[in-house]
Amino acid sequence: MSIIVQKFGGTSVADSEKILAAARKAIRAQKDGHQVVMVVSAMGKNTDMLMSLAAEINPTPPERELDMLLSTGEQVSVALMAMAVHALGANAVSLTGGQIGIRTDSSHTRARIQSISTERIRCLLDDGNIVIAAGFQGIDENFDITTLGRGGSDTTAVALAAVLGAEACEIYTDVDGVFTTDPRMLADARKMDQVSHDEMLELASLGAGVMHSRSIEFGKKFNVPIHVRNSGVFTDDPGTMIGSVGERMDRAVSGAALTRQESRITIGDVPDQPGMTHAIFSRLAEENITVDMIVQNIGAEGRANVSFTVLTGDLDKSLRVVKPVVSQLGAGKVSHDQQVAKVSIVGLGMATQTGVADRMFRALAAAGINIEAITTSQIKISVLIARDQALNALKAVHQEFELDIAPSARMQFGGGEGESAATIKNPVSPIDVVSRLQHMEDLTIESISRDDSQARVTIDQVPDHPGIAAQVFEAIAAEEILADMIVQSVGEEECASVSVTVPRADVQRTVALLEDLITQMGGRVTAEGEITILTVTGIGVRSHTGVAIRMFRALSGAGINIEMINTSEVRVNVVVAAENAENAYEALQQAFADVLES
Ligand code: ADP
Ligand code: ASP
Ligand code: MG
Repeated sequence: MSIIVQKFGGTSVADSEKILAAARKAIRAQKDGHQVVMVVSAMGKNTDMLMSLAAEINPTPPERELDMLLSTGEQVSVALMAMAVHALGANAVSLTGGQIGIRTDSSHTRARIQSISTERIRCLLDDGNIVIAAGFQGIDENFDITTLGRGGSDTTAVALAAVLGAEACEIYTDVDGVFTTDPRMLADARKMDQVSHDEMLELASLGAGVMHSRSIEFGKKFNVPIHVRNSGVFTDDPGTMIGSVGERMDRAVSGAALTRQESRITIGDVPDQPGMTHAIFSRLAEENITVDMIVQNIGAEGRANVSFTVLTGDLDKSLRVVKPVVSQLGAGKVSHDQQVAKVSIVGLGMATQTGVADRMFRALAAAGINIEAITTSQIKISVLIARDQALNALKAVHQEFELDIAPSARMQFGGGEGESAATIKNPVSPIDVVSRLQHMEDLTIESISRDDSQARVTIDQVPDHPGIAAQVFEAIAAEEILADMIVQSVGEEECASVSVTVPRADVQRTVALLEDLITQMGGRVTAEGEITILTVTGIGVRSHTGVAIRMFRALSGAGINIEMINTSEVRVNVVVAAENAENAYEALQQAFADVLES
């Protein structure tokens, strides 16, 4: 019999009526002939409430105790949900993470799932029960309760769907599905019918809080179709399918996202030599500081500029960690800005279309918004801007890419055409899945690749004001030159520096077309034809913060200097001199040998 996993988020179980409504949905699915596993979050804002209660008593509570406390929220809702099912005449059994056997590592408040036993769930299902599983929690090897990080019930649900070989994982929430951007921020946001795993991974990690990004990693790794939909009593509309299929191909951009709680730290005048990046980021990692956007640009006179963002709450600690490292390295000054926000656009089509960056920068310039830093990956562009402009910026890009208008054509990625989202079945047999399930959330590196086709063009000493990036990329796009990696960081004395990689054959043309423009502004253009881009692609690349560092360590160990860096949820790109390409590639292969998918 086919299994369906239905997950209900906090607002969808906020009161007794909503709990009963959720129970009815599960019973209906059971009557339709499915075995049903429900995954339930804490009621309403219960988790927030428990967090503030803890903070009143101890501003830095032991994380083990915090998990002990937070897990109670889900325990309340599973019990009530089971009672609701019984009240409606069906059978149900509620289970905590520990009772299911969701084994995690011991990193309290952000634990990773290692394995899940399915025996008990299967027995209960075979006996005709609806199984009601507590989301967000597990136990470690000492039977201590752990939690998976805020929003982690999504991850419980998709992980259970994966181990059970479920037909689908339905995520019931308080909006109709995944929108082109947060519908609570922008009235123009449009619900997407479908979105690909990679796009959703980027969107989730760039601020689209509708899904926990690690749940999408599971979806991708184990091929679980995820259906995000509204839990409302009167809505039965199809929501959004997250799968191998994206929504559009006639347009480059699928969605936009915003994160507000970021602070930027810039280290100027870092000696441009091997090991520097590693020294900085490994110290931050030792202190458990999660670094988000990393932007490193090639500098003038053998000096580079490294900018990165951390959560504003981690800013003081980060500055304390970074300052001694900087003086040790003989780098220049450390500056920071705690009033920044990050706006990103995401789309699979971006990888193959020219002029996307240019349109984004132009839209921002037209709204009078200055860009402080830029980083790109094959399928996203993120910019850092002043926080008080965040909503305007989101509006401007949403409008520019006409995200409010439904796509006219739909296309299948990586397969034949014509399969509708609703009919995608889980093509991986349960046996395959089970054999891959040990250490479920381990990092998987899909590939390490090397691109020798690109050259780098750098513009620096340009005054940092709105519209520079727009003008530069407008000129590049007008010539139909495909800019691949773009990095902008703020430099010294309010000067911006932008580097872009373009096909080697286009490098002279790019320099020529930028030279007039840039010298008029008082800046200069330089080019380096002999570069190589090395890319590590995989699942969990961003949420396993160690990946970039492992890369930096390997390159530093091989004595190779990193010229440019940018990161995304699914890949980390670095630029090295072409003469080092072979060694660098080797070093990365070795560094990731244990996690590289064969
Ligand atoms: P749940 O409690 O059901 O897990 P969440 O609050 O975690 O619900 O997620 C749903 C919320 O995510 C929505 O209310 C919406 O404001 C927010 N959100 C952010 N970005 C998006 C997006 N791109 N599409 C849909 N919702 C989004
Ligand atoms: N209750 C947890 C939280 O609020 C987990 C979840 O809702 O997904 O973060
Ligand atoms: Mg959620």
